[in-house]
Amino acid sequence: MNEDSLSTDVLVIGGGVAALRAAIAAREAGADVIMCCKGVIGRSGNTVVSTADMSAYVSGVGSDDSEDTFAADTLQAGASIADESLVRLLAERSGQAVLDLQRLGVPLLRDGDVIDRTRAAGHSRARTYRANAPSLAANKGLALSVPLAERARALGVRCLDRTPTVELIGDGTVRAPSERICGAVAVDFDADRAVVIRAGAVIVGAGGASVRSD
Ligand SMILES: Cc1cc2nc3c(=O)[nH]c(=O)nc-3n(C[C@H](O)[C@H](O)[C@H](O)COP(=O)(O)OP(=O)(O)OC[C@H]3O[C@@H](n4cnc5c(N)ncnc54)[C@H](O)[C@@H]3O)c2cc1C
Repeated sequence: MNEDSLSTDVLVIGGGVAALRAAIAAREAGADVIMCCKGVIGRSGNTVVSTADMSAYVSGVGSDDSEDTFAADTLQAGASIADESLVRLLAERSGQAVLDLQRLGVPLLRDGDVIDRTRAAGHSRARTYRANAPSLAANKGLALSVPLAERARALGVRCLDRTPTVELIGDGTVRAPSERICGAVAVDFDADRAVVIRAGAVIVGAGGASVRSD
């Protein structure tokens, strides 16, 4: 198998909504960014089959809602096993994250002049938003991920589709698992070659695990 070498400031592994948002943020901050995806960027992973309901506290929307109420609902719905500091971060930043989607080319579902919101299970207030899919039957997750993928490409993110990473590269300074990660080895399925990508920072956005190991 042939081998290619690439280098970049930031390597983002994955092609779902998490990886796309990270890649766009890094690119907007001025970094050179490579995305490396097992499937097609913006068209693979859980994101594309999901309902893509986004619950958020948007400041000033819903006079009876607040960051504290959103955080309390989230902790209660999660049977209080969630990390409270992460839940508070979510409550604090979720509103701006949803509004930012519009700037990045994702049209949100609207009710006349205002952004539409519904009350979803587990929430005591109407604070759930959706991307505006072309039809009721259309996949809502794609309505989110396809515009983000288009934006990432337009910003100059180098996109490697069908190129799963198979190994992270450590810098060898300390022993795993504390070793600093400085790249990854991927396999380009279409060209049948390995790709070694060196990076100043590596962000793993390759989806979640479906089982606990303990
Ligand atoms: C049916 C369904 C409905 C859902 N509804 C909602 C909802 O309404 N609201 C909500 O908030 N959440 C919902 N979720 C959960 C939500 O979809 C996920 O939490 C979210 O999409 C995860 O995004 P992600 O980018 O982290 O991962 P994913 O979207 O799973 O993306 C993972 C990406 O990593 C790539 N990848 C995997 N391995 C590698 C590798 N080795 N190298 C390179 N790339 C790799 C994949 O190809 C893919 O592009 C739902 C999930 C499902 C299944």
